[in-house]
Amino acid sequence: MTPATGAFSAVDVAAAAVRTLAPYVPGKPIAELEREYGVRDSIKLASNENPLGPGPLALAAIARAAAEVGLYPDGNGFELKQALAQRYGCAMDMITLGNGSNDLLVLMAEAFLSVGTEAIVSQYAFAIYGIAVQATGATLRLAPAYPEGHPMALGHDLEAMAALINERTRLIYVANPNNPTGSWVNAAALRKFIASVPRSAVVLVDEAYIEYVDDENFPSTPHWLSEFPNLVVTRTFSKAYGLAGLRVGYALAHPTIGNVLNRVRQPFNVNLIALSAACAALDDHEHLKRSVAANREGMRQVQVALDRLGVKHYSSVGNFLLVDCGRPGGAVYESMLRQGVIVRPVGGYGLTNHLRITIGTAEQNRRMLDALQQSLKQAP
Ligand SMILES: *Cc1c(COP(=O)(O)O)cnc(C)c1O
Repeated sequence: MTPATGAFSAVDVAAAAVRTLAPYVPGKPIAELEREYGVRDSIKLASNENPLGPGPLALAAIARAAAEVGLYPDGNGFELKQALAQRYGCAMDMITLGNGSNDLLVLMAEAFLSVGTEAIVSQYAFAIYGIAVQATGATLRLAPAYPEGHPMALGHDLEAMAALINERTRLIYVANPNNPTGSWVNAAALRKFIASVPRSAVVLVDEAYIEYVDDENFPSTPHWLSEFPNLVVTRTFSKAYGLAGLRVGYALAHPTIGNVLNRVRQPFNVNLIALSAACAALDDHEHLKRSVAANREGMRQVQVALDRLGVKHYSSVGNFLLVDCGRPGGAVYESMLRQGVIVRPVGGYGLTNHLRITIGTAEQNRRMLDALQQSLKQAP
């Protein structure tokens, strides 16, 4: 027995799989920037939030629900599941709710992975996947992304991912579209991939930005659920619905997957206000339409301006753009911070010259573009 006195090192005591983890680095909050840099009126285009915020129906629901927070939420999320089941024409037991879709990404890892099993992700895929996998002690297999020069440069190469499948594979994450690259995989390629995955593994298709996508070749994965019992589709109210701060997302899958997820899910993982707001947001077609249209215009505005500035950017079907500054992105990021504009450095992905920039309102985009131009002049 070690004596009950002396130095304590939490890292030494932590689970082996946790010891080597690096925490996820979120976008810098506006209040933190203003505290640290003494700037004012700053804008945040760093976390792919909806610049229009929540819609009027969600706001009204939030106000109504506030009076109820003395009570626990409905742990089964009946009303929201019912609304989603109606939306997708599926049974309620095909829906699992999450504290953000992030919760579901982690629950899937907890439910299907353990030491000795493997999960597959693409290089440059959303960073949460790797953290969720590694925390379980499972082995993370990284498939090389499409190279520069490819029409979907840095995007998921599903054939490279398929080549990593073996009898130990339990979980495969596909971000469609992917963050931070903005890249996507089409219906034919994704379908072929899913059909090739053995039933000893689950495919999770993360569609956090689906509402923004406008391409006839983009997959409609909910229609495939009856055919593939090992397919999970996750979606969220954080992005186009403008409810990032409330934390609510959902998974669509065969009921047996929901059954497994419910064994590890916290009983009240989605809060009472979030449940109400999400129900209301689902009905606010006008706000969603407005948000998607604003993004489309903003995306054009930013792309045209970047072309004019000669800044390389990657094609994106989301509400953000990956840009290549042609010099260390960290310095450009810092310089933009001093001008009160928060974007996202992506050096953690090995994209050291790159920044990920959320599409904002027309005015925010102008400010971001001015700050970027200034920063590129300062740090040539
Ligand atoms: C933002 C994002 C999510 C998760 O967002 P939640 O707020 O947890 O729903 C999931 N996947 C990708 C690729 C994202 O960019």
